[in-house]
Amino acid sequence: MDGNFESAADGVGRLVNRVAPIAPTDYCGDVHHRFLADPDLLALAVVDDQNVPVGLVNRQELQVRLADRFGWALYERKPVSVVMEEEPFSVDASIAFDPLSRLIISQRPSALMSGFIVTENGRYAGLGTALAVLQMAADRSAARARELERAHSRAEEANRAKSLFLANMSHELRTPLNAIIGFSDLMKNRIFGQLGSDQYDQYAQDINTSGHHLLELIDGILDLSKVEAGKLDPVFEPVDVGELLGECLRYFTVAGAEAGVSLEIDIPELPVCITADRRMLRQVLLNLISNALKFTEAGGQVTVSVMVRDGAAVIRVNDTGIGIAPEDMSKVMEPFGQVEGGLNRRFDGTGLGLPLSEALVTVLEGSLSIESTVGVGTAVTISLPRQVTRGRTASLSTERGRSTGTHS
Ligand code: ATP
Ligand code: MG
Repeated sequence: MDGNFESAADGVGRLVNRVAPIAPTDYCGDVHHRFLADPDLLALAVVDDQNVPVGLVNRQELQVRLADRFGWALYERKPVSVVMEEEPFSVDASIAFDPLSRLIISQRPSALMSGFIVTENGRYAGLGTALAVLQMAADRSAARARELERAHSRAEEANRAKSLFLANMSHELRTPLNAIIGFSDLMKNRIFGQLGSDQYDQYAQDINTSGHHLLELIDGILDLSKVEAGKLDPVFEPVDVGELLGECLRYFTVAGAEAGVSLEIDIPELPVCITADRRMLRQVLLNLISNALKFTEAGGQVTVSVMVRDGAAVIRVNDTGIGIAPEDMSKVMEPFGQVEGGLNRRFDGTGLGLPLSEALVTVLEGSLSIESTVGVGTAVTISLPRQVTRGRTASLSTERGRSTGTHS
């Protein structure tokens, strides 16, 4: 929306009261009778013989003068030029609402009460009133509301088109991708016999890994667009956070060992239970742990912990990795934003993990924050305030692992 919905056709000229003006020589008594004949008339413009405004007579002021003890006798036969306001406030008919209000406020606020003159090419066109200004404001608000409504429906339309495109794309890409993943799986596991060459084994492995990677990417884009479109409704259920953390960490046991990074878990004796969407929270934790592991060199350490602070469950994924510089902080929260984004980057991934995690945590009514020092490490903290309880609840029947310990 560019806000440019006021044109000359919307100027005050459209709303003026085109009441006939008077001449400077008209008698005050006659002008008074004109006011008496029209109770709604606030003022009358005084124009010369070229129809150029030279003054304004205000109804109330004239009436006060004539009502004075000798007022009528004094003024009845006097020309109206004696009592008129010279140099009245006047504007061109094409003036739009914004400049008109600015002018009135800065130059003559009283013009709203007493009325003002509207001209066309310098000639009298009519009287401007507070009602006309109000009408302009109302028209402008209505135009703005219409414009907003149009912009809103255009945005909704575009969003629908995007969702449809993504849904179709994911379907179209998933079908062949599942075949690629499935068949490369069969080949790398030599289900129907040898492939004939060691190189083919390696290729089958690469095809399979790439297929999985593509599938993850498609799922990530789809999830993010669903969250953005408000289509990802959480299914809230009781979740034992420590238990879920343990489960997620076990998923990375092999990768951690291969990378030479020790994985530790630090959870309190008394279980911390919250109300959350288990699948979403799991996805967030997997994203954060995978980052911690990916950006920590051999010999480093990744620690996940949970505690209750100010009534919220606080989950922290801490690493002793490469860290994120302050100037890169906003970039890494953007979709596809990576510190090393170039083709020569050292780490795999597409840059969807963090923005998706933040979006999911928001859906879970929580918040995500990052503290990091380059060369020292990174701590990503999520805070989930929804229905935090301590101890096992009836609906949480699964066995918990040890309360504190080390997975490596
Ligand atoms: P994806 O998660 O989509 O596989 P990614 O890990 O590169 O790819 P994000 O998880 O969104 O994407 O992270 C964005 C970027 O933030 C990373 O590329 C990295 O530069 C930086 N980053 C994230 N977590 C850490 C961390 N624990 N330590 C250092 N840098 C990090
Ligand atoms: Mg990541």
